[in-house]
Amino acid sequence: MYTVQELCNVINGTFLLQEGEANIEHLAFDTRRLQQPATSLFFALKTEHNDGHKFLVTAYKKGVRNFIVSTAVDTIQFTHSNILIVEDVLAALQQIAAHHRKHFHYPVIGITGSNGKTIVKEWLYQLLHEEYNLVRSPKSFNSQIGVALSVWLMRHDNNLGLFEAGISKPGEMEQLKAMIQPTIGLITNLGEAHDEGFTSRDQKLSEKLKLFEDAKIVFGPLDLLKGKLDDSLLFTWGYQEEADLFISSIQRFAIRTAITAKYKGKEVNIDIPFTDDASIENAISCLGVLLHLGIDEAVIKKRFVHLHPVDMRLQLMHGINECLVVNDSYSADTVSLKIALDFMQQQSSGLRRTAILSDFFETGRSKEDLYEVIARLLQEYKVEKLITIGKEMGELLPAFTRNIDIRSFATVEDFLLEFRSSLFYKEIILIKGARKFGFERIVQLFEKKMHQTVLEINLNALAHNLKEYKHIINPGTKIMAMVKAFAYGSGGAEIASVLQYHNIDYLGVAYADEGVELIKAGINTPVMVMNAEESSFQSIVDYNLQPVIFSFELLSKFKAYLEQQAMIEYPVHIEIETGMNRLGFALTELEELGSKLAGDNRFYVASVFSHLAASEEQEQDAFTFLQAQRFDEACTILQHHISYSFLRHISNSAAIVRHPGLQMDMVRLGIGLYGIETGHKEVLNLQVVATLRSTIAQLKKVKAGDSISYNRRGVVHRDSLIATIRVGYADGYSRQFGNGKGNMLIRGKLAPVIGTICMDMTMVDVTDIPGVKEGDEVIIFGPGLDVEKVASWANTIPYEIMTGVSQRVKRIYFHE
Ligand SMILES: *Cc1c(COP(=O)(O)O)cnc(C)c1O
Repeated sequence: MYTVQELCNVINGTFLLQEGEANIEHLAFDTRRLQQPATSLFFALKTEHNDGHKFLVTAYKKGVRNFIVSTAVDTIQFTHSNILIVEDVLAALQQIAAHHRKHFHYPVIGITGSNGKTIVKEWLYQLLHEEYNLVRSPKSFNSQIGVALSVWLMRHDNNLGLFEAGISKPGEMEQLKAMIQPTIGLITNLGEAHDEGFTSRDQKLSEKLKLFEDAKIVFGPLDLLKGKLDDSLLFTWGYQEEADLFISSIQRFAIRTAITAKYKGKEVNIDIPFTDDASIENAISCLGVLLHLGIDEAVIKKRFVHLHPVDMRLQLMHGINECLVVNDSYSADTVSLKIALDFMQQQSSGLRRTAILSDFFETGRSKEDLYEVIARLLQEYKVEKLITIGKEMGELLPAFTRNIDIRSFATVEDFLLEFRSSLFYKEIILIKGARKFGFERIVQLFEKKMHQTVLEINLNALAHNLKEYKHIINPGTKIMAMVKAFAYGSGGAEIASVLQYHNIDYLGVAYADEGVELIKAGINTPVMVMNAEESSFQSIVDYNLQPVIFSFELLSKFKAYLEQQAMIEYPVHIEIETGMNRLGFALTELEELGSKLAGDNRFYVASVFSHLAASEEQEQDAFTFLQAQRFDEACTILQHHISYSFLRHISNSAAIVRHPGLQMDMVRLGIGLYGIETGHKEVLNLQVVATLRSTIAQLKKVKAGDSISYNRRGVVHRDSLIATIRVGYADGYSRQFGNGKGNMLIRGKLAPVIGTICMDMTMVDVTDIPGVKEGDEVIIFGPGLDVEKVASWANTIPYEIMTGVSQRVKRIYFHE
């Protein structure tokens, strides 16, 4: 805990406003994540796309009273606050982290390298947490901000620190080093990641090695470090005898690898439950550290056998009885609990919050302290119902909670025996437990039982794609995200929650029912409904949706409805017909429309827009500009009648990229969010959001001349191996893919569809895929098999394939 005065001295700040002493326990820069405002210090950070100064008032309203800013603010609005002004807010955050770091004298391992940082850090944690009370970077917090927040977690009862440092250009490591101040260094490898930021590999290496300037020992591959640092500092590993840890043999078996090494003249053997190169390399890095720390050889052997994959992804899925399930069934510590609760909060609006937790394992603080911290987090995140599993949690936690309904079980088995699905209804349920409790069994209870075809949605990729578009959208232009048709098949409410979290300005849906679903799920971003009709007026008004008015008929009917409800200034959007010939007012109707709107206080025209017919096609660019010109004329006429200004918008995803001049006041971003660049300019680095995957139900050997599937259309001309896949046209896998048109990805190879597609199943020819097995994963589209390409096999476009995945296919959401 620090006083504001002390921190002011550390960062050389000046008080713009000084209230008096205040104690600081938390560092904050995101008003959406404020938990303990009274003891938080808020940093008004400026990033490429945002400026924390814009959120100062929000932070104040939420109870923050201590701020660090870099531009003068109107202090009148911040009574009883301390406001410090500095030149660079990020630098101040880093100075505070570095200052905090200086209070601790236990060893700190700084980990850098191109790949594997997080895995090595997490594995060291798995391997060492019984000997040490570790403090480590959460998730992959390794950036200029992430490192500051990680180091801030250091406490006096820890006795070993593990921090990651990641850089993407020269000059960044100095700050990270000042914060981490590692006494032990570890570099994993040097790969291609972020090559573009550096002039050469050598430059990249020497930048990374700056992390270790004051370290007493540095671990790393011999090939990489030889001659690069003072020999007396080095602890190298490699396949040459001169390495400190000489790897003499690596033997791969079906599901494990045996590694033999020589260290200080003695042979060391470990077995790891992995067979891939990266895991072997990462395990060797960890082995060096354990040997150096003097961990007993028998202990080392035992620990490596039990290494488990680092899956930092939280899984969100729809479960029984309209529940949402957040699956985090592989870790139980307070840092990851906070991350999981944060995610739950982002996704849960409207749903009651429930948590199922096992005993937690964190050494170093007393059990009472630990369970008090857990109780406080549950309380802060408004968990209403708690199920504890394990002796400690059940005995110690209840003393620290108020108003939480707690049920305790000694073991998972006890819980399974008493489980009744009717006890859970419309809740978001966090399932989080230490690995050894085997909470997978609990997760299974909540899963809706369906066949094994799933559409996997990567929510991080969605957020990434939005950011990519923000780079090329003018700073003053608003963004409406199109989430019609179940967010292009990806799931309306889940997608909308993420977009709302990232401050999207508007959401767009096709029909009122889609909008109602969003509001019911707790969305409070304005929603535009493109296809309003009389029968939906009531839900539109009840749920505060904003309809598009595209004809005089609709205008007068909606007006009558508003009159009847005695409502005025209801927000609407006006659609103009400029060449799509779908919906909208013709140019010739606009004088009349303008005068009707002008003399009427029932409506408030929030925006005027039109839709481009061929924004992705270069051959049609002249027509696109003609549409834009007509739209411009239309806006001029309407603005002439309407006394206030309204937003103008015409661009969809392809136009944003291909016609930046048409971005106007707002753009309507659709398919691009889901990772597809329809304009084919490849100026954006989009990530795939949706993966449709299934499994092989059965393998069959057939003889040359045999036929496959209905009506015997698929005849094989050689002895073949045929796989039956659990997906059919009822899942949205079109019959167009039949008879060799479509292909699926199995073990990295394309397998052609053979015969006609059935309702629930499809057969593919896997004769040429070595090692194929029943149960193997099959990618229908996703990373490695572009949905564009899949669409072309069925003579259609990605939009149709994505929105066609039927509702019986379970959606699973990932968040890293
Ligand atoms: C669907 C839709 C969009 C989004 O189009 P994308 O090509 O997916 O970006 C924009 N505006 C309107 C009116 C739409 O119907």
